Amino acid sequence: MTTTATTATPESKTQHHLAIADQFGAHNYHPLPVIIEHGEGCWVTDVDGNRYLDMLAAYSALNFGYSHEKLIAAATKQLNKVTLTSRAFHNDQLGPFCKELCELSGYEAVLPMNSGAEACETALKMARKWGYTVKGVPRDKAEIICAEGNFHGRTITIISFSTDAQYRDGFGPYTPGFPLVKFGDPSALEKAITKNTVAFFVEPIQAESGILVPPDGYLREVRKICDRHKILFIADEIQTGLCRTGTRFAWQHDGPEARPDAMCLGKALGGGILPISAVVSSREIMGVFKPGDHGSTFGGNPLACAVARAAIELIKDEGLDSRSKELGEYFRGKLQAVGAPAVKEVRGRGLLIGVQIKSDYPKARWFCEKFMEEGLLCKDAHEDVIRFAPPLVIEKADIDWAMERIGPILLSAKPAR
Ligand SMILES: *Cc1c(COP(=O)(O)O)cnc(C)c1O
Repeated sequence: MTTTATTATPESKTQHHLAIADQFGAHNYHPLPVIIEHGEGCWVTDVDGNRYLDMLAAYSALNFGYSHEKLIAAATKQLNKVTLTSRAFHNDQLGPFCKELCELSGYEAVLPMNSGAEACETALKMARKWGYTVKGVPRDKAEIICAEGNFHGRTITIISFSTDAQYRDGFGPYTPGFPLVKFGDPSALEKAITKNTVAFFVEPIQAESGILVPPDGYLREVRKICDRHKILFIADEIQTGLCRTGTRFAWQHDGPEARPDAMCLGKALGGGILPISAVVSSREIMGVFKPGDHGSTFGGNPLACAVARAAIELIKDEGLDSRSKELGEYFRGKLQAVGAPAVKEVRGRGLLIGVQIKSDYPKARWFCEKFMEEGLLCKDAHEDVIRFAPPLVIEKADIDWAMERIGPILLSAKPAR
């Protein structure tokens, strides 16, 4: 076998790993050039021994940080018992997981899957079948309204209603039945409803679109509209849920009246250890699924359920919602106080923070590369927004440490022209 084309003698372990990932991996991502080898709390170490503060938290899948003692213990214990049974049989983790997730979320029934996209697909199937069997919509006519700028994952059906050209281009033909409305505008939703509408499917905050927070009361209005027209309100809380935005679920910012009919959960539910996602809803709505209608080989496996149970325990016991709220306010305040000319807006809720860069300044990616050189990892959301979403276990001192680096870099940016 020949040596890699890129480098015959790699200068560093990082270069070596970058070269083999480039040669043998698909190029469907454009990651920052850091090769993480180890993580603890909010900090990671790369293969060359450099340390970084992680302010992405795997898009909120690492809300509890890396290597959380209790999560590792739960995983290890379950690894040594049984990891997979399939749903052909029961396992002793699934029932307790469903019960505990119901208690945490205030819903009555849980359908476990693996990835977030699968949870979304599950919710869409549930809404369609509810439309046909309960609401009485004519066969194959169901419409599920979605919001412009949405992100719900990467399956063909989900990208069918994306408004991001790159998510769609080259992947048609698309799944029909998903009209779009402007995000944050309740009257646009009401106008788009027809007799065949079965649901409105929406993120409480559009994270991938640049941490777009809707006007106060938006979800309360959505709830009323959905009730008025007898359609389901389904919230995608995969990124915003489980304390990320300063409340247990992001819809709660609009008060108890905003409660959705169903939620999609994922990311942090797996404790940053493995993928587990779920749809939670009422017994009545979930009841549209009959044995054989839907499923997944790994969905509800005992290893994932054991880890998720430990994650649920942490959410209940560690006050992560108020921690996220307080530290988020503190962090946003610090970011605002920099007063950098490059910054158009600092926004977000809890520890889901977006810093929008003015259009005549370098792209958000440029800032992320600078931060990395200073030992701080984060990611652009959309071209012009820097996303700060550290693990919720972050300390105030870590935020201060980060601000010593973020401030000067924001101030150093010069307009492109
Ligand atoms: C990440 C995400 C998804 C998709 O989750 P995957 O696990 O990547 O499939 C869906 N919805 C939202 C809001 C997300 O942030």
